[in-house]
Amino acid sequence: MENILKISNLNKTYKSAGHILTVLDDISFTVTAGSTNAIVGPSGSGKTTLLGLCAGLDSATDGIVELKDINLGSLTEDKRAQMRNKHVGFIFQNFQLLPTLTALENVMVPLELRGEKNINARAIDLLDKVGLADRSHHYPAQLSGGEQQRVSLARAFSNSPSILFADEPTGNLDAETSEKVIKLIFDLNKEAGTTLVLVTHDLDLAAKTNRILKIKGGKLISDEKTGNE
Ligand code: ADP
Repeated sequence: MENILKISNLNKTYKSAGHILTVLDDISFTVTAGSTNAIVGPSGSGKTTLLGLCAGLDSATDGIVELKDINLGSLTEDKRAQMRNKHVGFIFQNFQLLPTLTALENVMVPLELRGEKNINARAIDLLDKVGLADRSHHYPAQLSGGEQQRVSLARAFSNSPSILFADEPTGNLDAETSEKVIKLIFDLNKEAGTTLVLVTHDLDLAAKTNRILKIKGGKLISDEKTGNE
């Protein structure tokens, strides 16, 4: 199978108060197109940092991230943003919706940035897909956590991403709402073949994927198939 993501000898360090903090230490792995992958590990082990690097939201101190055979480190910030807009979806634990925009407008933003046509109708379709067409004119503060996460899913789905990164997508949700969000994410994989890379504390969610990568102290300590095909 074709690799959609290739991480080679990735390091990330931060300088703080005269010390160098190594957050990621020589991480290498590949992700096949269409697969579902979970990244697990204790709090502070570097999972969020790793996800941000894989998605091109941040740059590595050392090492290479190749997305669709393109070395993200070789691109200007503008070109990297273009790559993200074209191929990547990202979901945050705290949703990161723009508070002054309605649900509909939040979904319209990336469509507008890409210069697409009929963005109002497209955004309504996307909200409908996540079961929120009737909340389109609500502001984030007027929506429950689960509804906000579904708006952020609609926004992440808007470019039909080849790869979806999700950082604790169910971390702030109750069990029933988590199920809905997980189903939407896995449906995207089944229906559109979108590759999934999920950071999660939820071992039941991790067990639903094809493969579990464990990170500890910034190192990749295990990489195992779950047996799900
Ligand atoms: P996880 O997602 O596994 O909880 P993170 O990737 O969020 O871990 O953080 C890993 C480590 O990197 C933590 O010790 C955190 O404090 C540190 N860290 C993250 N971002 C920064 C930053 N911008 N500056 C300094 N340290 C950071």
